[in-house]
Parts: sequence; structure tokens; C-alpha cells
Amino acid sequence: MAKIAIAVHGGAGPDSEFIQQNQEAYKQGIQQAVDAGYAVLEKGGTAVEAVEAAVNILENNPLFNAGRGSAINALGDIEMCASIMNGKTAESGAVAIVREIKNPVTLAKHVMIDSQHIYLGDSGALMFAEGAGTPKEPTAYFVTDHAYEQYEQKKQELEEQGERFNNSMHGTVGAVALDKDGNIAAATSTGGTECNAPGRIGDSSMIGVGTYADNETCAVSATGDGEFNIRYVAAFHVAALVEYKGLPLKDAANYLIHTKAKGSGGDMGLIAINKEGDIAMAFNSERMHRGWKSNSEEGSVEIY
Ligand code: ASP
Repeated sequence: MAKIAIAVHGGAGPDSEFIQQNQEAYKQGIQQAVDAGYAVLEKGGTAVEAVEAAVNILENNPLFNAGRGSAINALGDIEMCASIMNGKTAESGAVAIVREIKNPVTLAKHVMIDSQHIYLGDSGALMFAEGAGTPKEPTAYFVTDHAYEQYEQKKQELEEQGERFNNSMHGTVGAVALDKDGNIAAATSTGGTECNAPGRIGDSSMIGVGTYADNETCAVSATGDGEFNIRYVAAFHVAALVEYKGLPLKDAANYLIHTKAKGSGGDMGLIAINKEGDIAMAFNSERMHRGWKSNSEEGSVEIY
């Protein structure tokens, strides 16, 4: 029987009272995303379809910082970023600074499949979304009580420190999957970071940093401090360690997070899969919401 497998993350970063109090709901959300992606794979769907389905579930879940529940930037605005990559073809799609798009990862998939380009941003991405018929929601849909409280609190902290912008984060989401045909894919979606500067683009929509997939090496979705993931070209870094250093997937993931980026001062995390169905999950932060499942093992959901 061909192996199928999926792994999902709901963001790496500092722990909080809110996360502790809502542990069960967070775990349920991750499990729902794992199950949705796995159901696609079980029905014979592709890895691309599976990662999109898993990420959509988390984008629709207000607990996570993607789609509904996105972080609010320093101007009180919501700007979302997402990307997706097909390990079979090396095709990818990405969107940055999009507003009102219910599921940014689905828009990124449309960019991959239906446009001549790979990366669309801001108003051009929104114009493209109109043509692609990607569902939209009014801004109020995206703003949850929790995100608003975080924003208010962070804004006050920043004012006290004489700062305007911030880079702490929570709850970006991502998925990697292996389908029955031996193809892998990765996807990532985020609302950015609370009170980040308007126009800031983190790693999540950057191919090779937040998302990467190549059937010959691995598929990776990264999370954590975008500025640090970019410094280390996180997702491709893992693939390069597999390809050029010959490291097993788990060793490659751990090498990047715990050796190469050791002492960098940034929170970093990632999930990865290869065509053998090996799954790696590495992070240096207090927590990374994560879960996985395959047809040879039951899987699990964990936060710490
Ligand atoms: N990496 C995301 C960003 O920098 C945040 C996160 O993963 O939570 O926008």
C-alpha cells in the first residue's frame, strides 16, 4: 500500500495564558486540520489539495493567526500572506498583503495554477482574486476579540517603550503532505505579527523560506520570527541539507533549528515531510502547535 501522510502546524512562538487556557480548543483545531487533509489523501486527492484543505480549516478557525483571527498591524489593519508549492512540478504560488480574502492559501493556489506569475501582492492580488472568484469577507470577519486584545496590549507596550512597530507572533499555520502517488507539497498562511509595520512581509509567503517542496528532497512549512526564517532561508535550507549534505530529514530539520540558528535569538519552527513519509517537526520556541497522521501510524497532536 502506498504511504500517505500529513503534518500540520499552528505556529511557533512564546507560550501565553490564552494558549494555556485554550489548549483543548487549539488541539481540536489542529486535529480537524490534520483530519481534513488526511481525508483528501485517503480519497486519492493530491498533496497540493491536502495541504490546501488543512490550511483552509486553520484559516477559518479564529484561534489561529491566519485568515479569521489574523494579527492586527500597527495601523489597525489586517494584511495576510500565504504560499503553496507542488513538489512534483516545482510550481508555486504566493500572495502578500491581501485583505478581505477568506482563504489566502486558496488565492495562492490560484496564482500557482491560473496565472503566469508566482507572487502577487496588495491591490494586484486582490484584482486577481476578483477574476479567480476567491471568496471575500468584510474586514470585521477577520478581527477576533483575542486578536484585538493582543493588538491593544501590544500597542500599549510599544507606546511605553517609545516604539511603533513590533515583531512578536503567534499562530501562523501550515501543512505538508505526501499523497498516494508519492508527490509532496507544502503550504503556509499567516496574518503576520501583532502591530507589525504596514507593508511588512514575513517569511510565510516567501517560496524557499516559509514554504518549499521538492519531491526529491522534502516539503517544508516554516513558522516563527519571519525575519529570522528569512535570514536562514529556512525551508530551502532543510532541503539543501538533505540534498547536499545527505542528512536524514529529521537531522536536517534539527540541524537548522538547533545548530545553525542556535543563539540567533529568534523563535523558529518548521514541519517537513519527504516522499518516504518521514515527518520532521523542530522548533526552538516555547511551543509549536502541531499534529500529524499517516496510514501506517496513528499520529498525534501536541503543543509543547
Ligand atoms: N512567520 C510569521 C511571520 O513572520 C509569523 C509566525 O510564524 O507566527 O509573519
